[in-house]
Amino acid sequence: MRSPISGWTGKILHIDLGTGEMAVQRPSRRLYETCLGGRGLAGHFLRPVCSLEINDPDLPLLVFAGPLTGTIAPASGRGTIMSRSPLTGAICDSSVGGRLATQLKRAGWDGLVITGRAETVCGIEIRDDAVRVTPTDLAGTTTDETFDRLAQAGPRGMAMAAIGPAAENGSPLACVMADRHHAAGRGGLGLVWAAKNLKFITVKGTGKVNVHDKDGLRQAREDILRLTAASPVLLGKHGFSCWGTGALFDLMDARRMMPTNNFAQTRFAQAGRLNAAAYKAAYGPRRHGCTGCHILCKKIADDGRAMPEFETMSHFTALIGNTDMDLVMQANTLCNRLGLDTISAGATLACFREIMGENFTGRTLIKALYDMADGSYLGQGSLDFAQSCQRPELSMSVKGMELAAYDPRGAYGMALAYALSTRGGCHLRAYPVSHEILRKPVATDRFTFSGKARIIKLAEDANAAVDSLGVCKFVFLAAGLEEYAKAYTAVTGVAVSGPDLMAAGERICYNERIMNAHNGFDACDDDLPPRFFTEEGSSGSGIDIPPIERAAFLEARANYYRIRGLDADGNPTRDTAIRLGLEPDR
Ligand code: SF4
Repeated sequence: MRSPISGWTGKILHIDLGTGEMAVQRPSRRLYETCLGGRGLAGHFLRPVCSLEINDPDLPLLVFAGPLTGTIAPASGRGTIMSRSPLTGAICDSSVGGRLATQLKRAGWDGLVITGRAETVCGIEIRDDAVRVTPTDLAGTTTDETFDRLAQAGPRGMAMAAIGPAAENGSPLACVMADRHHAAGRGGLGLVWAAKNLKFITVKGTGKVNVHDKDGLRQAREDILRLTAASPVLLGKHGFSCWGTGALFDLMDARRMMPTNNFAQTRFAQAGRLNAAAYKAAYGPRRHGCTGCHILCKKIADDGRAMPEFETMSHFTALIGNTDMDLVMQANTLCNRLGLDTISAGATLACFREIMGENFTGRTLIKALYDMADGSYLGQGSLDFAQSCQRPELSMSVKGMELAAYDPRGAYGMALAYALSTRGGCHLRAYPVSHEILRKPVATDRFTFSGKARIIKLAEDANAAVDSLGVCKFVFLAAGLEEYAKAYTAVTGVAVSGPDLMAAGERICYNERIMNAHNGFDACDDDLPPRFFTEEGSSGSGIDIPPIERAAFLEARANYYRIRGLDADGNPTRDTAIRLGLEPDR
């Protein structure tokens, strides 16, 4: 049956793995228009139960697509996996690429709300309206074995998502892998799957997404394609399409903000021979990407292995003192097979190395990754390990989630963005790299907090809207919400402007703040590891990397709280919640 509304399918599927019961919910149009989809809609379903423990069967695992997913809107093949983070206790959503979200929409579902705990390890198979929960003998298998087995038995073009041994052995660094090469990496969401005894989800849809105004969508698409074609960062000869996100590697080193030796330094002397060009020469990668994307920033080596993303290239070299490129390839492949988040895994190894004073060899590095996935102490993350050694300050994390590959002493917007992110040490919530380093859409001074509080708040709102539409953030290095508002209007028939989408994003961010505050997070958690305020980075070549001035950071954070409508402790206020149309918490 065709959806009575355009863009959304109008149906959300609730699956209780404990009882096997399923129920179809048809949300009001108003709910869709308020939350958009993806991260926004998932956050709506998480809010009433956001304090439940990870092992509580009633804690939902949420898998959502956006209203643009499954249409010809460029780079709209992204979805959201969301729950409470086993790593941090905060809310956690992770954008997932590949085919998952697109197939979900084609199968007729805007999202899945999965609760309960199956008696034995199981999978969910979705074939349009036909959905079944099936026991599986895939428990304990690596993700590549799982995908091989599922692909043999399933229809061509089917989407697959699965967890690996890391999740099944209890590691809060566990990710979810989708379609072999795509990760919903951060925050340990794989462990939520394991807590439900859920090993995999496969989806194959044969339907189409209703589009209200096909000509309008074609026009919006043309506009966006024109803008991306003119973007050196995306489609230029040094951009993501040619080199993957590894294109950032040289830039971060040249800007002296490459996290080195557990963020003790910001320059890695051997970086020049570990860059994207070196990988290209060694592994002959080809382009790969998410459904419907023309940028194709993912890269697959000539032997079929996924090439590491920039974050992995950086954390498995500079951060841990490794200069062996092939070891990075091995580590990346192993993390994917075991279902480990490469960013948190690399940063946890770096923390271990600094505290224990032990360098890694190829053998000990690979063994450490296997140990992590076996549920050893290192598999609990850097903060847990550093605390057990009475050195919590050496966990380079925010809210317990390890920082990505941008040293905040080299970009003060990033310092604020890391500290304030609702999911912990995340670079993508506001992605200030765009203006501080890539100079898009307009360049800002990377060594000042001046104006950054407002910029970070607006970028968070924009990215929340982007995640909720089902679109890739990278496109916004070229296009804006104005262009995507036209696409959204054409797809759904709901007339919106860029500022309308920003307002939706603001609501989504505030809802997340309310959930985190409900779970006890406040200003104490919106902070950076002390190293960044007391130690200088690797100054040189005319670039000074001093410690961040703490008073300036605190002033910028206070400005952010004011602009975001929070109180002085970073807590949501009743007035702002009501102004945004959200239920105040208490
Ligand atoms: S730019 Fe990369 S991550 Fe984004 S949708 Fe395209 S292939 Fe996926």
